[in-house]
Amino acid sequence: MQKPNRLVVIDIDGLRRDVFRAALEAGELPNIEHIVGGREGRKACHVDALSTAPSITFAAQASIFTGQHPGTHGIPGNETFDRLGRISGGKPRHLGFDVGDTLAVDDAVRVFTDGLASQFLSADTPTLYEIGAANGLTSAVAYHMIARGADSWFPPGIAEIARFTKGKGALGMEAGAYDGGMLDDLIDYLDAGHRPDLLTAYFMGLDHHSHAHGPASQRDYLRDVIDPQVGRLLSALARHRMLTNLLFVLVSDHGQISVIPDDRHSIRIGFPFDRELSHVFEALGLDLHDVPGEAPACDAVVALNGGLAHVYLQHRQGRWADPPRYKEDVIPVAEAFTQMNEHGAYESSLQSSLEMILVRDAEHEGWQAAYRVYLGNGRTQPLADYVAAHPELGYVDAANRIRLAGSAMTGDLILAANGREGFYFGAPLKGVHGGLYHGDSEAVLTFAYPSSGAEEIAWMQETVHATIGDRCADEGGRQPSVADMLPATSALLGFQPKT
Ligand SMILES: [Zn+2]
Repeated sequence: MQKPNRLVVIDIDGLRRDVFRAALEAGELPNIEHIVGGREGRKACHVDALSTAPSITFAAQASIFTGQHPGTHGIPGNETFDRLGRISGGKPRHLGFDVGDTLAVDDAVRVFTDGLASQFLSADTPTLYEIGAANGLTSAVAYHMIARGADSWFPPGIAEIARFTKGKGALGMEAGAYDGGMLDDLIDYLDAGHRPDLLTAYFMGLDHHSHAHGPASQRDYLRDVIDPQVGRLLSALARHRMLTNLLFVLVSDHGQISVIPDDRHSIRIGFPFDRELSHVFEALGLDLHDVPGEAPACDAVVALNGGLAHVYLQHRQGRWADPPRYKEDVIPVAEAFTQMNEHGAYESSLQSSLEMILVRDAEHEGWQAAYRVYLGNGRTQPLADYVAAHPELGYVDAANRIRLAGSAMTGDLILAANGREGFYFGAPLKGVHGGLYHGDSEAVLTFAYPSSGAEEIAWMQETVHATIGDRCADEGGRQPSVADMLPATSALLGFQPKT
């Protein structure tokens, strides 16, 4: 049997699993069919993986490339508040990794100039490239935000990032041109004679396109932009005789849902945007971080992550590094949000904008304390019981995903936006992710071995399903996750764990 000894990861940000499977089955992806063995996927193993909680880029991409959940790898979302000052000498620091948030332009650029996300990633969770290096393999990463341990990293240029994300009209860059530029750089690298054992091609354009045009636009983008670019990649790999014993992983970090692109449904904080969330904190005498650079000289910080928001509260007699007091610091804020949501208190425009308010008691149980659903008047219910009693919410594996996300980097409260009514945290968009719904949580995770025969395919499918099945059972019976990409890949490539 010919086992794979080389890996190409095709990482398509934001691609919904149902869109991918439908387009493949309909014969719309001829180049991807070369990888997976036709529209039936004869050379492939599909896994029904879920994104992280929140179902958002930086948390999920970190899970894909470390094989760990956010509670372990330490990146809880696109925005976070590092109350411990892990990479800032103990000084608490707000981080906004996602491009496009004017509160955090510097961070978004530093992701690609300084490897900010790789720095923030826990040093105790090795990446695919670090594990590969320990097993004697070389690696190259195109445009991805996490490349710690890779031999070669080519990030997008700053001008490209700016034109892609901020540009309007003449300065704007279409998502397809951005993805094409990524492939140009990658192919130049291969044409220069490099033959990395591990290669990651990161397509960011589909997610961007879907935010602007809604998830219904994904299928055309996948067919018209991504699949032809995959064809270019396959040609280059063939030209350099790299296709033999080559394992492919097709993966996405999350999906998207349709939301309403107006001011009422996009919940934001502070200057220069609406101050709507600030009113809730003001009513409690709390100063919300709503002016750029203000943190940590404030009492509360909200990290907006699409469908979910992390709310960090300071121990009002202590420091940010101290867990806030449950009764004095946490419960009053949870109650205020409940009053806002149910009765329009403090901010009438946000009535019915939330679907769920989660709290934890870090004061008594530590940062790993379980999140519970706040029901009002100080009462709470275990999250698993609550979602079991509310199937109409349409959440997938919510209790396990929230449990595996919790750490000192997650909020003292987690707010879930009422996405079913079109609400979300962030600027107005047509497509959003971050929540716990099928649409934004179901991700693509497909292993494919195009140069294989029947024996290898059977081995691959058994190895993938056994590896993931064992791990899900070990972790409380959770469902498969994007965090299972790395362990399954390691099993297929015969990696020994990094020591
Ligand atoms: Zn993403």
